[in-house]
Amino acid sequence: MASRTEVKNYLAHWFQLGKQIVSNDGRAIYKLEKIIQGDRFSPEFEACWTDILKGEGKGCYLIGTDQTIAELLSSEWDFESCARCSMPAPLSQSQLSTRPCPCDDLSNWPNVDLPHPRLPVDSHRHLGQMNDRLQSRN
Ligand SMILES: [Zn+2]
Repeated sequence: MASRTEVKNYLAHWFQLGKQIVSNDGRAIYKLEKIIQGDRFSPEFEACWTDILKGEGKGCYLIGTDQTIAELLSSEWDFESCARCSMPAPLSQSQLSTRPCPCDDLSNWPNVDLPHPRLPVDSHRHLGQMNDRLQSRN
């Protein structure tokens, strides 16, 4: 089951590649220029996320995907790293069908010349994650 933080991080990653959040009728609801500010998320992104949670993510999608944010926030979904681009991609817990990664419609991604989307640097947590990674390798 994906945590709220994972869903938030997922959106942060894809926003950095210019992805938008659209409503059922394909209208763009959120298109953000700036996701990271210093060592934290930008106020725009935080406001957008608060807004999404207010509506429980209903009726909004990351463009090019067919899961609503509400679905991603449910116990149905998890995230895995895309084999092609190593970005977080939604993974259904119950349906075995493979869902395309949101990178499916990005012709310019993966691109080694572009900086890889990142999360705000929280050095304490970052070290924790590195520790986890080292431990899972052993
Ligand atoms: Zn991908």
